[in-house]
Amino acid sequence: MDKKRLAKLDSLFEVLSIIAEGNYVYLCDMKEDYSRWSKNAVDYFDLPEEYMENAGQIWEEHIHPEDRDSYHKSIEDIFSGKKSGHDMQYRAKARNGNYTMCTCRGIVLKDDNGEPAYFGGAIKNHGLFSYIDNLTGLRSLYGFLDDVNSASWKKETKTVILFGLSSFSRVNDLYGFTFGNDVLCRLGNLLQSVFANQGLLYRMDGTKFALISNDTDIETFKKQYEDLRKTLVRNFFVNGERVTLSLNAGAVVLDKFEIKSETVYSCLKYAYYESKNKHLGDFTVFSNSLTDDGRQLVEKINIIRNSIADDCKGFYLCYQPIVNAKTEELKGMEALIRWKNEEYGIVSPIQFIPVLEQDTIFPELGRWILRQAMNDGKDLLKKYPDFIMNVNLSYAQLEKRDFVSELFSIMDETGYPAENLCLEITERCRLLDMNMLKSMVSIIREKGVKIALDDFGTGFASLGILRELPVDVIKIDREYVKNVEKSASDQNTVKFISDLAHAFSAEVCVEGVETAEMRDFLQKYSVGSLQGYYYSKPIPVNEFFEKHYEKN
Ligand code: C2E
Ligand code: CA
Ligand code: CA
Repeated sequence: MDKKRLAKLDSLFEVLSIIAEGNYVYLCDMKEDYSRWSKNAVDYFDLPEEYMENAGQIWEEHIHPEDRDSYHKSIEDIFSGKKSGHDMQYRAKARNGNYTMCTCRGIVLKDDNGEPAYFGGAIKNHGLFSYIDNLTGLRSLYGFLDDVNSASWKKETKTVILFGLSSFSRVNDLYGFTFGNDVLCRLGNLLQSVFANQGLLYRMDGTKFALISNDTDIETFKKQYEDLRKTLVRNFFVNGERVTLSLNAGAVVLDKFEIKSETVYSCLKYAYYESKNKHLGDFTVFSNSLTDDGRQLVEKINIIRNSIADDCKGFYLCYQPIVNAKTEELKGMEALIRWKNEEYGIVSPIQFIPVLEQDTIFPELGRWILRQAMNDGKDLLKKYPDFIMNVNLSYAQLEKRDFVSELFSIMDETGYPAENLCLEITERCRLLDMNMLKSMVSIIREKGVKIALDDFGTGFASLGILRELPVDVIKIDREYVKNVEKSASDQNTVKFISDLAHAFSAEVCVEGVETAEMRDFLQKYSVGSLQGYYYSKPIPVNEFFEKHYEKN
């Protein structure tokens, strides 16, 4: 198809998509019988591509045999000019093999000569989500994602805010579920009345609400938010009962740039959890480093997120050696991710991991990391048969129930031995269902894979996790050893953690060893292994091959 016709098809398609409200959109250039379909439909129904020749025929094969005739007839009528559109229901087969009920509405657009030129419309998948939240009557998460997409597509300036409650389960426990629902409705109403003239309000999942506003004056939002918090602490009544609620809020400013709604939502959740976990509920605007302003950062995260979808392009792993604390022989190494592109150069994981962990796409990156590390590690095993490859896991990967089977299948696929693998988890795993985590960890360890508890002591739940989960290694964060030669409290910490590790039959690995003096000091304690710049910074795998430990 020639470029001009394709451009026209695309621009009409965009228009349809804006008003489609989450329905799938299709548009056919009838003279060429060339169509474009929504990416979501392609994914959901396993269609060949967004752009398809003879899409009517392809789609027909997805329609339930009992509904096929009426669909076939209506398409025939439309293409022969007998009818100017259709509005019908049929069952269509999804990727998973199940049929889902769809409503399909379409009309024919004629050209200047009155000839049928385009056939386009929308398909509503009844098996999917709703745009309205049943409890509060507000627009739902799906409506939110759609509205963010269209604002970004139009390059509008918006402030997006996520509000949510701390420990709401207490309200449910105290007063029951129905009352809990009433509280959420009341909160929705209150938010609605406070921000009535400033934008649209949404009910997100659980106890969270969002606002998309045209206003960008953050100071005004902060003031309104503080007033709101005061009301919720002192003056909030539901069914005559006084209820005290504590609110958190995170915000992202979108400033005339195009960005995916999923990225916005991940940045928003990140800001929200900063507010909740670090700032006692204070209004927190997204921006996770001093050098980046929020805008740059959101755009950067968006590009990095897109690279995950693009077969993890731009990502690579560096490796840092871990040595035996006594002999200083190579014991293993830790895989550490980097992302690189022309515009941004090399980006450190601290900039994107904590944000993208909030994203549903993260497990895809997690699988890539595991596969890459095991492939690289396999070659190194030929040279150092006993070494252990440490791979960092994010709680977002463990959240998925099929994590263990994915892990094992990557091990099978790469042929990487279980005994040479160690997975590093952090105390952030406390966010997961502890019973599920316990059973996952025990299956993983039974297979021979080791588990390390990373950054021990930095979060308040490290000890709790240690009590619940058997681990092979405890890694002491470098924060605690920075001044180990001089500071008695650093020394006590190392001693305390290594005693604790012994009590739990785990080995200790100390991170952040930067000097020979630190090493000398640490060798006095019962520490199993050391890691740090003193031995090597993280380096790409080929350098690891070439430069290090030739003597072995
Ligand atoms: P981490 O797991 O605690 O990794 C250790 C970090 O300390 C690495 O930073 C490493 O380069 C740095 N480091 C090692 N030795 C020294 C030293 O002697 N001095 C100093 N100042 N730093 C040292 P990096 O590579 O920037 O990674 C930062 C964090 O990003 C990691 O902390 C980890 O939480 C996360 N991360 C990195 N790669 C991955 C990954 O593949 N998956 C996941 N989920 N998270 C990752
Ligand atoms: Ca680590
Ligand atoms: Ca660490």
